Amino acid sequence: MGTTVSDYFGCLVFDDREMKANLSASVYASLRKTIDEGAKLDLSVANTVASAMKDWAVAHGATHFTHWFQPLTGITAEKHDSFISPAPDGGVIMDFSGKELIKGEPDASSFPSGGLRATFEARGYTAWDPTSYAFIKEKTLCIPTAFCSYGGEALDKKTPLLRSMEALSRQAMRVLKLFGNEDVKCVRTSVGPEQEYFLIPKELYEKRKDLIYTGRTLFGAKPPKGQEMDDHYFGVIKTRVASYMADLNEELWKLGILAKTEHNEVAPAQHELAPIYSTTNIAADHNQLTMEIMQKVAARHGLVCLLHEKPFAGVNGSGKHNNWSIATDTGVNLLSPGETPYENAQFLLFLCAVIKAVDDYQDLLRLSVATAGNDHRLGANEAPPAVVSIFLGDELQAILDAIEKDVPYAGIKKKTMKLGVDVLPRFARDNTDRNRTSPFAFTGNKFEFRMLGSSNSISCANIMLNAAVAESLKIYADRLEGAEDFESALHAMIKKTIKDHKRIIFNGNGYDDVWIKEATEVRGLCNYPTTPDCMPHLLDEKNVAMLTSHKVFTTAELESRCEIMLENYCKTVIIEANTMVDMARKQILPGVEGYCAELAGTISAKRAVSDTIACGYETGLLSKLSMLTDQIALKTDELESAVVKLKEASDVIGESYAIRDTVLSKMAALRAVADEAETMTAEKYWPFPTYGELLFGVR
Ligand code: ADP
Ligand code: MG
Repeated sequence: MGTTVSDYFGCLVFDDREMKANLSASVYASLRKTIDEGAKLDLSVANTVASAMKDWAVAHGATHFTHWFQPLTGITAEKHDSFISPAPDGGVIMDFSGKELIKGEPDASSFPSGGLRATFEARGYTAWDPTSYAFIKEKTLCIPTAFCSYGGEALDKKTPLLRSMEALSRQAMRVLKLFGNEDVKCVRTSVGPEQEYFLIPKELYEKRKDLIYTGRTLFGAKPPKGQEMDDHYFGVIKTRVASYMADLNEELWKLGILAKTEHNEVAPAQHELAPIYSTTNIAADHNQLTMEIMQKVAARHGLVCLLHEKPFAGVNGSGKHNNWSIATDTGVNLLSPGETPYENAQFLLFLCAVIKAVDDYQDLLRLSVATAGNDHRLGANEAPPAVVSIFLGDELQAILDAIEKDVPYAGIKKKTMKLGVDVLPRFARDNTDRNRTSPFAFTGNKFEFRMLGSSNSISCANIMLNAAVAESLKIYADRLEGAEDFESALHAMIKKTIKDHKRIIFNGNGYDDVWIKEATEVRGLCNYPTTPDCMPHLLDEKNVAMLTSHKVFTTAELESRCEIMLENYCKTVIIEANTMVDMARKQILPGVEGYCAELAGTISAKRAVSDTIACGYETGLLSKLSMLTDQIALKTDELESAVVKLKEASDVIGESYAIRDTVLSKMAALRAVADEAETMTAEKYWPFPTYGELLFGVR
């Protein structure tokens, strides 16, 4: 490894440089055609590529290969096969064929399929995504792949993501042609996901069953200090954290991941990492890898990286901001106001396509980020509310208002805005005028979708976003292709979009309760606070119609996904509830009882000295704690019964409703009494590390 970043950046990736260096010109050209245009890869070419890839990987210390994919569990999956193949002389050769590169057949019976795969046909297959480079991780050549059932149904997150990117490109190309863009071959969406996370000391983590089993704390009284001083945000990075970040960057850079920005976040022990944006499917692969490597590197530093959306009550949780834009293969960002009037009209049309998409498919965007973990963040006045809306900023808002009302826009010239005539002002990315409370904010040349939870795969959100925008563009293209006068049809359509969809635009404070009231009661926007509230809408007729018409999902895939997402939700909360019961019975109650016994012992010891000696402190405390232990025991039993009762639900939707309506409140009730007991119990009797220790333990 070289000494400077540019020497080792991407050294574990079979990237374009390696392809060029290791493949003949003709093989390289065919592979490039596959990567750039999706052309089918000939088997003889695949064999040559596989062999070169294997030689390169073996030279870099790899012994195994794996098809690396993203099943619906939310994490990545890999099954390692070694390259070895027996040689006649009793030794081995390292072997890897084109067939093995292109297609794998993992036994997939244990991955969630939501009923898509009959149990007798447990196999699925994985297919190489050549647009995302292969890389080496822990001596294994990882080949990014899509994962499907034998019937061809997607069992992963990459397949529909690629389909959604194609759908958007298809429709955007129609629109671009109308604007006379002849040299554009395709349109790609790009994403830069900002990733938040917590770092806590490993030795403390290991003492908490809740963190181990669920990734979040289920108990914990508020520490004397939380985030109230705002002294952590952008604060000086502690030496130990800085060395973690340096190590992390190095690992990510070796994998060709463009880790760029890092800083402390609002909550103590909370940090953020943002890469430079890249094409969406690559950004999705890289984000999955980033999350994995964050956790691995943490272990080397005696730390644990928590990616849960809400590891600690009372301080901010972690999100993931999905910065998203659309660009042509010729490098034009379609969400950037242009230099010429024509480009500006094109920009306004794409902007309107997004506005219409977000309004028409609010429910899909909301449910694309729905998990049990993220439910704790959305609407808790630390992250955007569960109501989807768009922030445009004053300048762009004024332009849209002028177009809608056919009135002069003072910002440019004192005359009526006419598309294709006036030049839009440049939208400088202005950090002072950023609305951080908006779920979906325009930030100069991209949109920032801020509802994602820190552990979400970015695929889900981008699938819905791409598909919904593809639908707007399809409607526009249908209309414009048949228009007699392009410019007036364009103007009319933009005006109509603004009129019809302005309810989704909100430039105010999204944390304000008044807004939620207005959003739901006046504007009729959807408000789905929890996963069970929103997930069933995946199967609403309009959503199924849109997603299937663009071939992003089949109906069967949608049904299975709805089932799997709800199942995940139920399983997650049930594990949390069971963990609480376990901790309450085996740790908290015995701990508090130990202290009670000590208090009782002190009282009798004092009384033995004299009947009249004052024991007010001890008896008062003992009686409060005894009341609390009774309560803890009672609430534990109630929680346990609520979980048992879930078996009565007839289907997964019913089960998720029962969890939302009963289990979660029983969990909160148990936590409340346990946390109260924590505030009164002597430190040495409290059975696990406290919030103060966890949040301020990294020094
Ligand atoms: P902030 O925290 O102010 O929102 P950051 O610099 O932390 O900003 O993150 C911005 C993210 O947006 C980065 O990942 C960056 O690469 C990404 N980004 C910038 N321009 C684009 C674009 N045109 N399309 C997609 N993502 C972009
Ligand atoms: Mg941001």
